[in-house]
Amino acid sequence: MVSRRLGGLSLGINLLQDKYCNFNCRYCEVKRDINTESSLFVDVYDIALELEKLFAMYRSGEIWEISPLDMVESEYRKLRSITFSGDGEPTSSRYFPEAMEMALNCRDSIRAVYSDIDVVLITNVGLLHKEKVRGALRNFSGKGPVVWAKLDAGTSKYFQDVCGTKDTIQHILENILLIPESSELVIQTCFSCVDGKPPSRQELLAYIDKLRYLRKKGSHFSRVDVYTVSRSAADPGIRPLDIGFLQDVAGRINQLGMAARVYI
Ligand code: SF4
Repeated sequence: MVSRRLGGLSLGINLLQDKYCNFNCRYCEVKRDINTESSLFVDVYDIALELEKLFAMYRSGEIWEISPLDMVESEYRKLRSITFSGDGEPTSSRYFPEAMEMALNCRDSIRAVYSDIDVVLITNVGLLHKEKVRGALRNFSGKGPVVWAKLDAGTSKYFQDVCGTKDTIQHILENILLIPESSELVIQTCFSCVDGKPPSRQELLAYIDKLRYLRKKGSHFSRVDVYTVSRSAADPGIRPLDIGFLQDVAGRINQLGMAARVYI
């Protein structure tokens, strides 16, 4: 797919085609009804072959002849990333460590030609305290994946309501602090209108406080991306916020001396 946030073509790796996620966010586009851990078999070798095929199509330009990519504007016609995202939380797959190692090797092998390609991990970070997950971000000698870590609230109550989890906000903060410096880190914040109400002023202040806490504890995040639901969420009680609200949040983040970008 072509991602505006990544600035070009993103080759997605979906390890959770059975749609398992350790969260159940109200704004998620995926309607999920399984709540037991994923047992789906994933053939990482097959994914590597698929990536090679896509790289070859990119090199030849053939990829831009396939619909809907043939409609992409020229400014986005560049390969930006191999991205772990998909229908569920990538780190919850037992094949995540193996798949991450494969993706980093792929990235390194094509960087001689395409120097600005990254591996991006989009994660809710709820499982990052697990050694096998953290190990997958550390077990290599060079640069790690770029980690897009979700932080959607300032209080545990709001977080648990919106993200459908029993994890506390403190657990999420502690897990963000575990992300190694070899990985570039970007905080991803999705705010939306929940049952007709935007996040309260107290919630926003608590959220800003959590960013301050992360920085004070040494978190190396380079930017905060603030966005709202862009496509229809599976839950009808979730609606997008207007851009003014998001810009106000970004302005508050900027006042802390941190970079913020707004997406709608
Ligand atoms: S963490 Fe991501 S995949 Fe999981 S429920 Fe939330 S939005 Fe959906």
